[in-house]
Amino acid sequence: MIIVLKPHSTPEQIQHVLERIEALGFMPHVSQGVARTIIGVIGDEDQLRAEPLQAIDGVETVLPILKPFKLASREFHQADTVVEVKGIRIGGGHLAMIAGPCAIEGEAILMEIAEQVQKAGANILRGGAFKPRTSPYSFQGMGEDGLKILKATGERFGMPVVTEVMDPRQIDLVVRYTDMIQIGARNMQNFDLLKEIGRTRTPVLLKRGLSATVKDLLMSAEYVLSQGNRQVILCERGVKSFEDSTRNMLDLASVPNVKAQSHLPMIVDPSHATGRRDLIPAMALASVAAGADGVHIEVHSCPEQARSDGPQALLPDQYARLMDQIRPLAELLGRKIDVCEGVSV
Ligand code: PEP
Ligand code: MN
Repeated sequence: MIIVLKPHSTPEQIQHVLERIEALGFMPHVSQGVARTIIGVIGDEDQLRAEPLQAIDGVETVLPILKPFKLASREFHQADTVVEVKGIRIGGGHLAMIAGPCAIEGEAILMEIAEQVQKAGANILRGGAFKPRTSPYSFQGMGEDGLKILKATGERFGMPVVTEVMDPRQIDLVVRYTDMIQIGARNMQNFDLLKEIGRTRTPVLLKRGLSATVKDLLMSAEYVLSQGNRQVILCERGVKSFEDSTRNMLDLASVPNVKAQSHLPMIVDPSHATGRRDLIPAMALASVAAGADGVHIEVHSCPEQARSDGPQALLPDQYARLMDQIRPLAELLGRKIDVCEGVSV
């Protein structure tokens, strides 16, 4: 249910509505628009319908939210959400340029890659410390040692960092070292993980599941939002299909599809979507053209020695060339790419 308050309702009236909702045993979620305040009330719709919420002073109208996802919906929050990760804005016309290796493999190599992607214009550094590998015998990531390297590298180049969390037991550790938590495709419906991450206030990068629908993705975002963490960025990274010449099938239509239904920013990861270095530039450009709020790209300075996902890693100079194409496209479309502190363009 959404409660739309009258324009120019007073703080006292808003407070009173919130208290009434809490007294009824519901959790209110406030969305402050330019002209109006909207209060989302999530809970048993039948019970809510029985309450004369319309009669509360300052309330203009009470409407049901027709979608199964509520806090993620445009009905609840009309304006684009802009998530800020250590000064880098994502959403509402601001693009995230996330780049880095699949896995953190050591300090020297991460520093080398970070320096080059930052110079090329990346504004967030990625790197996995806990890796979700298909085989238990493959490299599983450097764990806390990797997190320390990631944090130090991000600080050295003034870049916020993002890394994946796979298990609720890793959350406390990871939030100490990272600026954004990634929930990987394989964990998109790990609901306990989503709820625990929802209790943090660290921005979240939620990747679409391997066989998840757009609705599934938005329902997973709802889990995080429902726990109070409003800083959610969605990521299209391809879905399983019959096509076997690419790693996954990039569903670019999901970008305008999601953005019509939700206020959350949505970026695209053409690296995991295609699994092929040669396809990444075209898909990255197409993503920006389709309205994505950024792109997430794996880059490695020596892909043949990468401990995971080498075949899909762009070389730093390929990444730089791609950024040289993305920038004018973004400008043409009226989008901005925030730059990391201390970097001049
Ligand atoms: C990753 O970003 O390193 C990753 C494993 O991606 P996904 O969860 O999309 O497969
Ligand atoms: Mn990878």
